[in-house]
Amino acid sequence: MMKKRNFIILVTLCILVFGAIIATNMLAEPSLSQAVSESEEQNDISAANQQLEEPDETLSPAEPEKEPFKVVIDPGHGGEDTGAEGASGSYEKDFTLAVSLKVARLLEDVPEVEAHLTRDKDIFLSSETRDRPNFANELEADLFISIHANTFADPTVTGTETFYYHDNSLGLATIIHRHVAQATGFRDRGVTQENFFVLRDTTMPAALLEIGYLTNPEDERVMLTETFQQSVAEAIVEGIKEYLGL
Ligand code: ZN
Repeated sequence: MMKKRNFIILVTLCILVFGAIIATNMLAEPSLSQAVSESEEQNDISAANQQLEEPDETLSPAEPEKEPFKVVIDPGHGGEDTGAEGASGSYEKDFTLAVSLKVARLLEDVPEVEAHLTRDKDIFLSSETRDRPNFANELEADLFISIHANTFADPTVTGTETFYYHDNSLGLATIIHRHVAQATGFRDRGVTQENFFVLRDTTMPAALLEIGYLTNPEDERVMLTETFQQSVAEAIVEGIKEYLGL
């Protein structure tokens, strides 16, 4: 008798609990779907914000992770490819290497940045096999900076110019150019979009700096000095730090 009564109580309890669960679910359901649509809405909003913030992000990307930023410094030309020949017969490849080595040395003091040189000596890197962009792409570098000096038939032509190709590189090019143009003191020739393969084939923000005209005798004389190269290197590092928000 007692057992049967217990059984009935148990069944009643089960029904009550089951009923309560169903009732709770029915109440919870609208708020669940509401939560889903709210989070979808938030996604839409953050996507919209991202679009709005995109130009800013190219100027100063997200806060540094634990991993250091990989910055590739690319001294233009090298080996059999001498680059421009200066007014006095100096080679662009030597100027670009000298400045690049100084940049890399300065970056050793920036713990958030890991510098990588496409070459640290006078060697030839093939443009046919895309050695320079491949190096940066395989490294999954965060930035690519190619260092050059300019040449022109008219020896009076002077100035500092910076190139970029992909739209997401404009922020980097603009910031670095501002620092470098200030350091050289040459005529500011601005930032220009140009289809150079090192800029086109790199997958990260990339800029190509034409520091000055080696074909201008007065500019060349200045460009070959240690002081000038050091201050340009410092300007490049300042630009990198500003762009990375360091
Ligand atoms: Zn060059």
